[in-house]
Amino acid sequence: MTESSGTGIRILDDETINQIAAGEVVERPASIVKELVENAVDAGATRITVEISSTGKEVVRIRIIDDGSGIRSSEVPLAFFPHATSKIRTTEDLNSCLTLGFRGEALASIAAIAYVTLVTRHRDEDAGLRYIISGGEVLEQGEIGSPPGTTLTIEEIFFTTPARRKFLKSISTELGRIAEVIEIFSLLYPEITFRYLLNGQEKMASYGATSLGEVLRKLRPDDAVHLIPVSFQAGGVSITGYLSHPSYSKKTSQRMMFAVNGRFITSSRLMNAVRAGYRTLLPSGTYPVSVLLLTLDPDKVDANIHPTKREIRFSDEQTVLKVIHEAVRETLQQADLSHPGQSTERIVGLHTTDLNPEPVNEIRYPAPLSRSQQVCEATLAGYRATTRQLRQTRLLLDTDADLPPSRFPPLTYVGQVAATYLVASNEGGDLVLIDQHAAHERVRYDQLKRDQAARTLSQELIVPVVLTLTQSEAHHLSDIKEDLEEEGFLLEPFGKDSWCVRGVPVVLGRCEDPEAVREIISAALSGREEAGIREGVSRLVACRGAVKAGVILSPEQGEEIISQLSLTSEPFTCPHGRPTIVSFSRGRLEELFKRR
Ligand code: ADP
Ligand code: MG
Repeated sequence: MTESSGTGIRILDDETINQIAAGEVVERPASIVKELVENAVDAGATRITVEISSTGKEVVRIRIIDDGSGIRSSEVPLAFFPHATSKIRTTEDLNSCLTLGFRGEALASIAAIAYVTLVTRHRDEDAGLRYIISGGEVLEQGEIGSPPGTTLTIEEIFFTTPARRKFLKSISTELGRIAEVIEIFSLLYPEITFRYLLNGQEKMASYGATSLGEVLRKLRPDDAVHLIPVSFQAGGVSITGYLSHPSYSKKTSQRMMFAVNGRFITSSRLMNAVRAGYRTLLPSGTYPVSVLLLTLDPDKVDANIHPTKREIRFSDEQTVLKVIHEAVRETLQQADLSHPGQSTERIVGLHTTDLNPEPVNEIRYPAPLSRSQQVCEATLAGYRATTRQLRQTRLLLDTDADLPPSRFPPLTYVGQVAATYLVASNEGGDLVLIDQHAAHERVRYDQLKRDQAARTLSQELIVPVVLTLTQSEAHHLSDIKEDLEEEGFLLEPFGKDSWCVRGVPVVLGRCEDPEAVREIISAALSGREEAGIREGVSRLVACRGAVKAGVILSPEQGEEIISQLSLTSEPFTCPHGRPTIVSFSRGRLEELFKRR
């Protein structure tokens, strides 16, 4: 027998135990964020702000500010004690535990590996407490003025465990994980306002949301348009959330998210159940985007199998998997899958660089008209009115000598849908949709800009329009009178707080509609147009005289709009910045039809 070279078995000192435990709970900066945000949520916070400071190489400071309950001064030292928690008392409570934390490990672990400054004030106490603890040692404590709530600042992260520091991934990976953690919490708790600041700059904010759907639209607008809502209940499990349209799948499972009783979890078995629910709808080797929130009896869930609580155990997992599978299948079966989300269609793949389109998901598609309605609407009078509108713009464009070189591809007109969109195709076989109103609005706007003289020319109204205003509006109108007159409006005061519009710009066309005049003046008065009064008036004048949505066009008229649009300087957006053209590349069509 040789003598043991070691020093024999001994019980580790507390500091070492905490550092080992810390390794399990706080692997990386993102896990610190997760633990602290969890605590803030448990404390009933309505606003949680995460501030990260980083150098190009590492995260140097994490600060979490919450407006939750705060911690009683007398209990602060206890909070940093390992296995000290206010959330459960015995193992029995573990089963029905609904708070996110319960192991009492996070604060002790973090204090073991970093420099921690806590400022907290319990809502029942008058003064706050500042408490500094580092490497498990209390360095400072004292009263401090503070609003109710808790602010934790974590610095010198992993300074006691330099080896762990080495294992951290690149700074961008670490920051990515932090953003992911905050995003997950924002989705799980729509009612809480989360803000994320990186080096003083706001990166994410979820304020004002009332539902998961709303947060999704805010935080992940690209995904949101492809998501189908899920609401399903069976076998004691209720599932709500969203699933992506089968055409919107990803190469990785990263965008599949699950929460059980408000706790985010990862589980490959749950993922597989979702994918199985898609059956053949999902191309093999791909993953849907999903956010599924499961609620079930807390007794049937055991979250205490892993320190980070990211894994959980179900007492009857088979049932849970079956319900998920069923929920996905039913949801997809009942959904109208013929409309893939709208944002994969890039807005004009032709010259996108200088475009600044509004998100496509905000475009509203009016309900299509029935055939008989269409016939009724296409009356001769309507036809003539449109021809007149188009003739007006054509004439003026033709007189313009130096047209900019056209960036516009030659298009072949195919038809019109919903009395609103022109359908065309280009030489490459791409499908091109044009919003007839937005397009003509652009044409009219360019015309106004090019023809300064026509723009300021007035025509007298046969019946002047009287504007009855509030005192402050009337006052304001005398301030902007000159601007309006330069745009071709003729205005006169008309008794107390009233003005009379005697003339309007010639380019407004046959203006028999007093409402149009009121609308333009009131928009100018409200200062809604950020671009200035004259610019705002030009845009509105362009809009009012343009061919409207909902007007049936003859093929010649449709072609005319396209040809006029092709001569404008910025054919791809209307003067308000909305897209005029949306194109579906041929490749995209092939993808949609699974031809490749
Ligand atoms: P756990 O969350 O598992 O209970 P922690 O170590 O994360 O353990 O926190 C210990 C205790 O400190 C919590 O039980 C709670 O009472 C208190 N605490 C921590 N953070 C906050 C906070 N932001 N607001 C109020 N109380 C907090
Ligand atoms: Mg906790």
